[in-house]
Amino acid sequence: SRTLRVEMLYLALPATRNATPIGYVRAALPLDRIQHRLGETRRMILLGAAIAFAFALLLGLVLARRSTEPLRAMTEAAREMAAGAKRSRAPETRGSIEMRELAAAFNSMGDQLEERMEAIDGERNKLTAILSGMSEGVLAVDARERILHVNGPAAELLRINPDLDPGRPIWECSRIAEACALVSRAIQENRFLRREITLLGAGNQRIIELKVSPLPGEGNHPVGAVLVLNEVTELRQLEAIRRDFIANASHELKTPLTVILGLAETLHEDGSLDEKTRERFTEKLHRQVGRLSTLVGDLLSLSRLESASESYEKQPVDLTALVAECRAAQQTASEAKGVTLDADLPQVPLKVRGDFSALRQALDNLLDNAVKYTPAGGHIVISARSAGGEAIIEVSDSGMGIEPAAQARVFERFYRVDKARSRELGGTGLGLAIVKNVVLGHGGEVSVESVPGRGSNFRIRIPLLS
Ligand code: ADP
Repeated sequence: SRTLRVEMLYLALPATRNATPIGYVRAALPLDRIQHRLGETRRMILLGAAIAFAFALLLGLVLARRSTEPLRAMTEAAREMAAGAKRSRAPETRGSIEMRELAAAFNSMGDQLEERMEAIDGERNKLTAILSGMSEGVLAVDARERILHVNGPAAELLRINPDLDPGRPIWECSRIAEACALVSRAIQENRFLRREITLLGAGNQRIIELKVSPLPGEGNHPVGAVLVLNEVTELRQLEAIRRDFIANASHELKTPLTVILGLAETLHEDGSLDEKTRERFTEKLHRQVGRLSTLVGDLLSLSRLESASESYEKQPVDLTALVAECRAAQQTASEAKGVTLDADLPQVPLKVRGDFSALRQALDNLLDNAVKYTPAGGHIVISARSAGGEAIIEVSDSGMGIEPAAQARVFERFYRVDKARSRELGGTGLGLAIVKNVVLGHGGEVSVESVPGRGSNFRIRIPLLS
């Protein structure tokens, strides 16, 4: 309204009577009132919207929380399972049907996982038990030579502390450089390697066989290696003894054989030999054949005793009677040599469990040696007694005696202090080896004490029959 200078809303309508216009009706309303009403309406709408929004938000939050709750529980359970908790499970009774199905599937996966883990644990325990029960050393490393497993014997041989943190490289834990190098090479070259090494310890040396097998991985790259350690010291020593024995035996056999061959050839080819020389040669031949026969006899008894030592036909044997018998058997030989032979025996029998003929041979050998190595005018005493549950038999002579350094070796096969002298006396170097074999086979011990030039004392101890 220009006149009122106020914003107005006008409404004009024609007024009619019987369809004939008679005038106009006009209404005017100031606009600020409408504005006021509009403002009120807007406020109402905004308030309503805000309340509706807040309500929707709240509802949404509650609903969202309700639907994500099982998911969160499942996430938590998965996390716990990953951390190693076996009994962690998702709730199967909350949330929508899909959620419950998901939880059930999740839990069944958990059950299966647990079963597999238990099976793996069981297998691992079995493997550990097998490995620790093995006498061979076993060590496993990964491709970067970090120790995955080491059993007791391997830790001992490689001088590894068994309580070390697993996962350290082998070359950091063991100072046996050859073993570390062999493992490295086997992994690098991806092939089985084997070698023997000698470990020097306090006063002894041990021979160890090392075998490394790479663990096959993808392509040409192994995922690690297994090292197996085997102590072969005893085996190698036995092999050396056997080699020496064969060499010695052949040598011992060859000497009389060469002499026999020479004598036989001369006798056969030289027709000009006079009767006396012929006789001398024949006598020599006879002596050499005798020597050969004794040697073969000793070798045979040694081998028989060695193979029988485990299974001697043992029965009660009275050592008092046995010693008396042996002494009687040697009487003639000792008298012939001008050596006195006395016995100091108890009044009671000394019963042991043993093989009569083997024990007889052992005592015969000791007495035979005493006679052999005691010059004329000397004396020998064989005695028997019991002490501390053992029968003790001693053969002492006033003979030439044995040097201290040789005393420890006289029981070795073919060992002789003076080869030429022993040979001259018809010795083979096997007598005391036989004695030792028999005594050990009866659970006993044999020892010698001797003063060179004064005499020797051989002592046998055998457990008495209780
Ligand atoms: P051998 O057949 O040479 O007598 P043994 O095995 O019986 O062989 O004895 C080994 C060595 O021990 C002998 O060669 C000898 O040097 C020494 N020996 C054995 N018994 C005596 C003893 N009673 N007195 C001195 N030396 C002995």
